[in-house]
This record gives sequence, C-alpha cells and structure tokens, in this order.
Amino acid sequence: MATQSKPHWTASPALAHLRTLSPDVCFQCNRCTAGCPLLPAMDLTPAQVVHHMLLGQWEPVLKSETIWACVHCETCTARCPQEVNVSELLQVARVLAWREGKVDPNHPMAGYFASFLENLYVYGRSAELPLTIICKLKSEDYFRDFMLGIRLIARGRLNFFSIPRGAATYRRLYERAAEKEAAGS
Ligand code: SF4
Ligand code: SF4
Repeated sequence: MATQSKPHWTASPALAHLRTLSPDVCFQCNRCTAGCPLLPAMDLTPAQVVHHMLLGQWEPVLKSETIWACVHCETCTARCPQEVNVSELLQVARVLAWREGKVDPNHPMAGYFASFLENLYVYGRSAELPLTIICKLKSEDYFRDFMLGIRLIARGRLNFFSIPRGAATYRRLYERAAEKEAAGS
C-alpha cells in the first residue's frame, strides 16, 4: 500500500477544491486520461493521480514523473464528467513535490520550474531571453533545441527582446499571495 503523507495545507484554491471532493467523486471513467496529449511521458495516468489524491496517498503522486510531464492544457479538466479539476490538482502536486524536496533538483523539468518562478518574481511575467539564458547556464546544455529556437523566433513565437514592464506591481501581488498563503497554512 502506498505511504500516506500529509502535505502542508495551504490557501491554494486547488487544495481547497480537493477538500470539497468526496473520495468517490471520481468513478475512474478515464476520460481525463484518454484525452491527455502527454500520456506517453507519464508514469501515473491522470486518473490514477486523482485516485491517489482523493485517498490522501501523496507519496506516489509527489514522486511521479506525471506531475512534471503535465503541461496544464486542461483537456482532462474539460473532459471530466464529475468536474474534478485534474489539471489544477496536478499543478499543486508539483508545487508540493518541490517544496517538500520530493524531486531531484537536477530533474530537467523541476529545474525549469524553479527558474520560471524566479523569472516571474524578477520580471513580473515570463521574460524569454533571461529565462533561456538561466536555463542554459544551469543545464550546461547550450545547443540542445538550438534549431527549434531558431524556428520559433522565425515564426514570431519567441520574442527575446520583449522585457516585461511593471515588475514591481506583480511582485507586490506575489508577496500578498504569499502572505495570504502563510496566514492560511
Ligand atoms: S474524468 Fe473525472 S471521473 Fe473520470 S477518471 Fe478522470 S477525474 Fe475521475
Ligand atoms: S492538463 Fe496535464 S494531465 Fe491534463 S490533459 Fe493536459 S497535459 Fe494531460
């Protein structure tokens, strides 16, 4: 049987959503799983993640590849007949896994996740050039995806020269959210 470990309860809306769900809300129809485009990269299906979380079995979820493979496209959430917000549950599991040290800090997606959050804090929104530089420096893998990057720039999907403004305003929002979370924990 999977180990049960309680995460820190925070003011996260996803955890609040989880607390409103009864364990039998999910009848394992697998509609969420069937629609997931990232399923081949997952070790637990979205339906299995929901099943574990509803039973309070956090350990297998927090150690899974699934929480790092998910791109939060919300297809699973849209397909669930029981209105389980699967995507948001995966997102909160990712945050908890990071906070509780359940993931190797050298995990490529976990590393990207940490850099992305730092980037948001500094610039307010995603700033693609600094984020790319930081990720490349951390991974020391300078040329991987080089051609993909060139193609994205050519199609206007990456704008290295747009640095977001108004970071201080966003930072105050983040700090207020952190204060609210600390007060609700
Ligand atoms: S679609 Fe909803 S009810 Fe069906 S398995 Fe997924 S979470 Fe459970
Ligand atoms: S949100 Fe994540 S789990 Fe859900 S369908 Fe998209 S990639 Fe799959």
